[in-house]
Amino acid sequence: MSAEIRIPTDLLPSDGRFGSGPSKVRTAQLDALQAASKTILGTSHRQNAVKSQVGRLRDGLTNLYQLPDGYEVVLGNGGSTAFWDIATFQLIEESAQFLSFGEFGAKFASGAKAAPHLADPSIVTAEPGDAPDFQPNANFDTYCTPHNETSTGVAIEIKRPSSDGLMVVDATSAAGGLAVNPNQFDVYYFAPQKSFGSDGGLWIAIMSPTAIARVEKINQAKRWTPAFLDLSIAIENSRLNQTYNTPAVATIVMMAAQLDWMNENGGINWCAKRTADSAERLYSWAERNPLTTPFVSDSTKRSKVVGTIDFVDEIDATQITKVLRANGILDVEPYRKLGRNQIRVAMFPAVEPEDVTKLTKSIDFVVSNL
Ligand SMILES: *Cc1c(COP(=O)(O)O)cnc(C)c1O
Repeated sequence: MSAEIRIPTDLLPSDGRFGSGPSKVRTAQLDALQAASKTILGTSHRQNAVKSQVGRLRDGLTNLYQLPDGYEVVLGNGGSTAFWDIATFQLIEESAQFLSFGEFGAKFASGAKAAPHLADPSIVTAEPGDAPDFQPNANFDTYCTPHNETSTGVAIEIKRPSSDGLMVVDATSAAGGLAVNPNQFDVYYFAPQKSFGSDGGLWIAIMSPTAIARVEKINQAKRWTPAFLDLSIAIENSRLNQTYNTPAVATIVMMAAQLDWMNENGGINWCAKRTADSAERLYSWAERNPLTTPFVSDSTKRSKVVGTIDFVDEIDATQITKVLRANGILDVEPYRKLGRNQIRVAMFPAVEPEDVTKLTKSIDFVVSNL
């Protein structure tokens, strides 16, 4: 029955993709692929045509973040999940502290905990919907945290703890959408399928000189590392604008096009302003509406790229997301393991802020017609 509710066209967003990854790919990026289709796609990744696309991606990120001297953009195959294993082999010397406040932070911490060559990590946790602080201590050589916890919609400010140690940040859903000061991290790693509106499968890591020195130190100590997870091999290849093994060239072309778009519009500050605009529209609606509340109660921790909105018990959010889906509004279901009566809305830079307003109007319409 409810699946037959038709949302009036004037309330519908111009694009119905609100997924937190894979996320909306702009038409301009598909045009970039089309333009690359005769000279770049289907050609060797060891020749200049493809290498120049990798170079464009690396330069685009250097510009986006105005990276300090000595910082390098490194990339390889396997996505952010692969980077957790890479960090476990090549960045943590012995003992790390992890912030764990959702599914993604927890997964990295549990991988490091299982590694036989590392000491048991310290894992500082918070309830879903909140975030803890580091408890720095001279014993830790590495500190790890997500910038934006995609499973709960909590974002924190990236600030080094008061003790020395490598600061390693999972920025998978934050990069390109939230501002950050590069002096506050040593490694900022992510994948192309969130704010960069491309496809998955690659990992990209912005590394400080201290992080690169850490990799050299670990490799001098002759810790066994599978070649696929060896960061020194990835660093060497990245400096030549290539990857250790064959990458998805289309993914690189689409991400490079997105970076050009971001930089032409004003860089990371422009992107952050755009996501903040979208977030303001979503959260202020949720606060005004008697049937909804932002899941993250501390407004300073509410993510501007992934918003989570709880519904009162009388309303079944699953019913709403079903009707939305039937009307072409996709992927606002909550993170599967969180198990809450809520919606989750990605507000990456590719999403038009006006479409977030339209989404809230569509939801109001659905609720009043259920
Ligand atoms: C999506 C996501 C990941 C996983 O990324 P993959 O590229 O699929 O491995 C890791 N961390 C965070 C914070 C994410 O949002």
